[in-house]
Amino acid sequence: MKKCDVCGNTVFHQEYMDEFFRFGGDTVLVEQVPAQVCDRCGEVTFGLETVEKVRKMVQEHSQPTRKIEVETFAFA
Ligand SMILES: [Zn+2]
Repeated sequence: MKKCDVCGNTVFHQEYMDEFFRFGGDTVLVEQVPAQVCDRCGEVTFGLETVEKVRKMVQEHSQPTRKIEVETFAFA
């Protein structure tokens, strides 16, 4: 059974969220990604299958729905 890395809880619910993924030098924003959210602490995890699917989409140069510019800041 899946366990939360942070609190050890085993109860999750699914939410769809917009998430940035980074592959090599490319950062892509994927909208409505199914994520598992820990019921107790809110830790968000993505299934291996989900990440793999995103990676494939990026590698196969699927046509993005649109392109946005992202300002990036380094915290430290
Ligand atoms: Zn948790």
